[in-house]
Amino acid sequence: MIPLIQLDRQFQSIKKEIMNAFERVVDSGHYILGNEGAALEQELAHFLGVAHPVAVANGTDALVLALRALEIGPGDEVITTPFTFFATAEAIARVGATPVFSDIEAGTYNLDPALLEEKITSKTKAIIPVHLFGKPCAMKEINEIAKRHQLYVIEDACQAFGADIGGKRVGTFGDIGCFSFFPTKNLGTLGDGGLVVTADETLAKRIRKLRHHGSTAKYYHDEIGYNSRLDEIHAAILRVALKKIDLWNEQRRKKAAVYAKAFQHSTVGVPMEEKEQTHIYHLYNIEVEHQAELSETLAQQQIASGVYYPLPLHLQDVFAGLGYKKGDFPVAEQTSERLLAIPMHPFLTSSEQEKVIAAILAFEQRKGGSRI
Ligand SMILES: *Cc1c(COP(=O)(O)O)cnc(C)c1O
Repeated sequence: MIPLIQLDRQFQSIKKEIMNAFERVVDSGHYILGNEGAALEQELAHFLGVAHPVAVANGTDALVLALRALEIGPGDEVITTPFTFFATAEAIARVGATPVFSDIEAGTYNLDPALLEEKITSKTKAIIPVHLFGKPCAMKEINEIAKRHQLYVIEDACQAFGADIGGKRVGTFGDIGCFSFFPTKNLGTLGDGGLVVTADETLAKRIRKLRHHGSTAKYYHDEIGYNSRLDEIHAAILRVALKKIDLWNEQRRKKAAVYAKAFQHSTVGVPMEEKEQTHIYHLYNIEVEHQAELSETLAQQQIASGVYYPLPLHLQDVFAGLGYKKGDFPVAEQTSERLLAIPMHPFLTSSEQEKVIAAILAFEQRKGGSRI
């Protein structure tokens, strides 16, 4: 089977350094909020070019902590995309605020800036753009709209660690940026992990307090917080992986270029590359007319594929109370029926990739039709 992602190959490639890191942590006697976490935060500050990174337990908590730090809660509205992993909207709901969805742009699969302003009300407090699949959002346009209406911008960069716009890393364009170190993310650990970044020292202090039970002095608590620290063991593993992330992202980009070239004259749509942007291909999605049938055909040839995401968030049962219906976000709805993720990771071999390409082209030729 050729899987979508092959984490064993990735961690095998840095196993020696990880085992050393593991030993260092075991021997240190400190397992939560120690030197490894502090060192990781310093290295992340340098890598991302941001003053205050705060490592937390996971990407979902990163979003919750960001919203809490900005005092967003019941009665507030937060605009985001219906075409993202559930956690983006879940975090908004978890702090008691209301997710307000706005459609995506065809081709980029990210929030369409042209549609945002009509969603803004007197209750709107923030916009959460999601750099979906590793593709940077239109941050210039989104920031301009936010500024005009005095809204916060929280970037959900959980799928885009290392992506940039004009050399500036995503996650550093808004008031706060959120990342996930879940194993399958481009920069992942051997478990859960997350990160909040901000240039604002006051916000960073608040996030540090919130991640540690609302406490700044041991056993004195001035607000209700969370148990959401990044374990030392994960910090140590991430310090090893961080050294490789630019190389791994570059390897993903090279493989993306191979796919794009192979599908150039076919009916298969490929991800959009924009000038001044570095897409880091957390997932590689082709756009096709026969999503389910192609997926089945690939499976028969031992090639994995996946649908991200089959049901846009405005149509999820849990959000039925928000009053959305089918047809509200036509681009998101149509995109969910057309995208198919195919194998993409830094350790995909050329022969594996050739096999994937040949299988897809053979299927498309058999089907005929035109490029969408
Ligand atoms: C993975 C992900 C999250 C949540 O991250 P966890 O670390 O799994 O909690 C949030 N938003 C997006 C877009 C993600 O892909």
